[in-house]
Amino acid sequence: MYGIANIFDLNVILLTAIIFVPLERLLPMHIEQKVFRRAWKNDLIYLLFNGLWIKSGLGIFSAGIIVLARALIPRSFQAAVAAQPLLVQIIEVIFLADLGFYAAHRLFHTMPWLWKFHQIHHSIQELDWLAGHRVHPLDQVLTKAASFALILPPGFSGKAIVIYFLLYHWQSILVHANLRIGLGPLRYFFALPEFHHWHHSSNRLAYNKNLSGQLSFIDALFGTLYLPRGHPPDTYGIDNVIPGTYVSQLLYPLKRY
Ligand SMILES: [Zn+2]
Ligand SMILES: [Zn+2]
Repeated sequence: MYGIANIFDLNVILLTAIIFVPLERLLPMHIEQKVFRRAWKNDLIYLLFNGLWIKSGLGIFSAGIIVLARALIPRSFQAAVAAQPLLVQIIEVIFLADLGFYAAHRLFHTMPWLWKFHQIHHSIQELDWLAGHRVHPLDQVLTKAASFALILPPGFSGKAIVIYFLLYHWQSILVHANLRIGLGPLRYFFALPEFHHWHHSSNRLAYNKNLSGQLSFIDALFGTLYLPRGHPPDTYGIDNVIPGTYVSQLLYPLKRY
């Protein structure tokens, strides 16, 4: 999640490409997929520019959540939460954040006016480390705000929140990557590429499934897990034809159709 990419962001983007491009060649889920596949330039524009809108929107939401939390949550409760061991706080933050993510994501799939925005992300037809950045800013802001609404009020330490951000950032790139990683039974606990690739599958059986961002067991808890053994999805995307450029994709959900 970058702003208009500055030098630091460009270094992180370069590092991400240096890690994932060779990995995707080494352990591909879809061996025939090219590095410079369809729509890669448009997804790069998302990576470079989308963060500006997302950071601004999330900044406003976060300020509102923090002001409300100050008024509603007792200081003694926040102090007790922050006094827990760091590892415990990190686990709690990830779980709460992903519950919020799951709830918002489920609404984006089931409410028609929200789906108009979320379908931009589901228009991806070839998944890789870059493709996952194709998200409408309103989609990203509201989904992350749902996570923030659960992790900011309790008063977790700044360290726990920052570590969660870093883990979320890298995991969200990982789950979109064209990577075949088998971690045995851990696939039922953590969201891995196979899990999220099924979320993007054009197979009807996988529609509205695998909605969590980091913890696949949340989908198991709510009956939305879809993880068939032994083969990845054949095709990705949606029936609706979405325009191909960044600006037209940002405006598309606002159109009457
Ligand atoms: Zn989705
Ligand atoms: Zn995705």
